Amino acid sequence: MTEAIVTKSTGKLYTIRDITSGEIYTSNIRGKFRTHGLKLTNPVAVGDKVVYEMQADGVAMITKILPRINYVVRQSPRKKHFMHLLASNIDQAIVVVTIVEPNLKQGFIDRFLLMTEPYDIPVLIIFNKQDLYDEKELSMYQFLSDIYTKIGYTTLLTSTETGDGMEALRALVNDKMTLIAGQSGVGKSSIINTLIPELNISTKFISDYSGKGQHTTTFAEMHDLPDRGQLIDTPGIKTLSYNHLEVMDVSHNFREFFTHSDLCKYNNCSHREEPQCAVKKAIEEGSVSELRYHNYLQIIEDIENQNYWERIKEY
Ligand code: GDP
Ligand code: ZN
Repeated sequence: MTEAIVTKSTGKLYTIRDITSGEIYTSNIRGKFRTHGLKLTNPVAVGDKVVYEMQADGVAMITKILPRINYVVRQSPRKKHFMHLLASNIDQAIVVVTIVEPNLKQGFIDRFLLMTEPYDIPVLIIFNKQDLYDEKELSMYQFLSDIYTKIGYTTLLTSTETGDGMEALRALVNDKMTLIAGQSGVGKSSIINTLIPELNISTKFISDYSGKGQHTTTFAEMHDLPDRGQLIDTPGIKTLSYNHLEVMDVSHNFREFFTHSDLCKYNNCSHREEPQCAVKKAIEEGSVSELRYHNYLQIIEDIENQNYWERIKEY
């Protein structure tokens, strides 16, 4: 049996690395893979451990995916009813954001955390472009950093221009398999290039920060860090939708809401109009963030609007 790890996924073809020899092969997949009830655009993810066979033409054939420890999946940006696997078997995830250039999109961090929370994947939230922050932006950073560190996430202020935060970041990614993601233009490629100088990923100069920055990465790809560990670079994210989820899935994955929900009067409390809601009480008392709650309401409202619209269309 020959085992390999998937290091790149381009849709149809995969790049795999043999676990023992370290040889790299281009690979196909054979037949259908069980997707555990998920409708997937890509059955195999970067990070997957697979079994393969070599074919006569020198192209490998993936015949089996070994059980995943975890995975990160998002709604496909192109095919609404399908899910897209970003990566599997990761130790942690990094979401890169900026407060300016481009402006931080309201709710983006919370939407990202919904992807990693089902498997309790540790998340580092990087606020990049520190060199562009004035007092106002720095206090915004502090405000957000307090919210997320309080509920167990890690935050870091960085600048690829000045190098600030880069030593801390090196220590945090060392010897780990880390997924790195972010909206286009936040400096994800620049950060990867700083961590892995010989990689030299092309970064894009973006003059228009309307949020429509060009993608610099189209496919997920794993890169080795100079010392130990790997980064899985993922395509720039425009928006994250959760129309495939139920309201309860969302509330369970807002970790501090979930902790409080034991004390809600109703065990399926959505923390809105229900009486004796422990989450709303905690917000009033200031122990749960209002911003997180606001973003939570937005996400479940989107889901309900979507469901309503789908039902109307069925008539
Ligand atoms: P990506 O789309 O997230 O991969 O972003 P890029 O790495 O391509 O960077 C987008 C733009 O932001 C480029 O013009 C970079 O030079 C710039 N950039 C990246 N990091 C920083 C930073 O820390 N400070 C400043 N001022 N600009 C940065
Ligand atoms: Zn409640």
